[in-house]
Amino acid sequence: MTRLLLLLLLSAACCSMMPDASQPQGGQDDAEYEEGYLKKHNNLETSVSQQPMEKSSTLITEKIHQMQKSFGLQVKENLGAATSETTSRPQCGVPDVGDYTFFQNRPKWNKQDLTYRIINYNRYLTFEEVDIAIQKACKVWSDVTPLTFTRVFNDVADIDILFARGAHNDFQPFDGPGKYLAHAFPPRNDIISGDIHFDDDEMWTSGNNGVNLFLVAAHELGHSLGLHHSDYVHALMHSQYKFIEPDEFQLSQDDIDGIQVLYGARKKKDTCRNVKFDAATTFRGETFFFEGEYFWRHIPQNTKVQRVLIRAFWPSLPSNIQAAYEYQRKDQVLLFRGKTYWILSGAKVSKDSPKSIYKLGFSKSVKMIDAAVHIVATKKTYFFVGSQYWSYDELEQRMDTDSPKQTSEDFPGIRKKVHAAFESNGLLYLFSGNRQYAFSPKMKRVTSLLEYSSWINC
Ligand SMILES: [Zn+2]
Ligand SMILES: [Zn+2]
Repeated sequence: MTRLLLLLLLSAACCSMMPDASQPQGGQDDAEYEEGYLKKHNNLETSVSQQPMEKSSTLITEKIHQMQKSFGLQVKENLGAATSETTSRPQCGVPDVGDYTFFQNRPKWNKQDLTYRIINYNRYLTFEEVDIAIQKACKVWSDVTPLTFTRVFNDVADIDILFARGAHNDFQPFDGPGKYLAHAFPPRNDIISGDIHFDDDEMWTSGNNGVNLFLVAAHELGHSLGLHHSDYVHALMHSQYKFIEPDEFQLSQDDIDGIQVLYGARKKKDTCRNVKFDAATTFRGETFFFEGEYFWRHIPQNTKVQRVLIRAFWPSLPSNIQAAYEYQRKDQVLLFRGKTYWILSGAKVSKDSPKSIYKLGFSKSVKMIDAAVHIVATKKTYFFVGSQYWSYDELEQRMDTDSPKQTSEDFPGIRKKVHAAFESNGLLYLFSGNRQYAFSPKMKRVTSLLEYSSWINC
């Protein structure tokens, strides 16, 4: 019966790769070379320049080097210790309450908002499939804890995720296809903490035809957060890979109990219920919702939204954007805060940004714009300011002479000020108070009332 199940060993960096265990052939020379070199010269930096390395390997070497700088020769011992240490049972409570275990000294992150980067991809899955698998794996844990996971692109991240084959400079070489699929580093005080490495020799898949990336990622992320293996066979943290339909996947109570010992349960009011957008805009077919230093990125064909740091995309943009709109005709997005605005030309911040809003024709009494939306059919842009709105003619490049007008007169049904707005398929989506209205400019009426956070789907 077990033949029906694909059972493969999953490994954590913590526990699977004993330094003296008989190791597979692939990459062993490199590993030995590294270790020998380290013993001889106590210096990993030189070995970097002597070995041709792929991007991911260089990255790890950099990390090890940085660790070496801060910990001296402890580096290798640290990693070595991580491979052989024993696990500890939860120390409070009745010992047989759960099957979950922790790493020695029960390391955990001492913050709740974690960041991750996807360093590279693999040959079997599209970028999008990998992104979604990782995002979904994060959600497994963020659903049951107060933890949040934000993807960053060029910042330093807490959790670096990469694919590597054979020896890849962390003294834990992979073994080619099968057996060991991935490993992860528990949260500690070093730079490789939390990182997840997938064996690039596996046939990664989003289904059952190979090794399902989501399932392995969710398991490894458990290690990144501080969970060791569980003895309970139906736990995600059990050490053996067993295929489950990703859509039917459910975290076992044992996993939930384990992770909640470390981080507690998720508070009832989740981030989605408290969300309040500062601004919204379409962007080349996607929709962005700005909130503080983040924006939520809604991609139509993608069922999950991403929450991204604004500065990770555009380092020169401020946080707390107050209004934004897309002018498709010029492939521009205009972002407003206070008396200034920035222009994104394509995906880049244009060189003449920021500019003064008064150049658009606002009177000096306007100190900030609450929301902006461009209507493709009429080439007009509406700026919501307090209880009024201003109408700007994009073709004439000037404010309409009858501006400003009362919002409540031309947008019947919208009683509070509009604080974010965007257009999609001829409808305006207006965020006002704690509600979202779909408004037809043609019919001049609200056509439906939507859940405030309907677009971010969390
Ligand atoms: Zn594991
Ligand atoms: Zn590794």
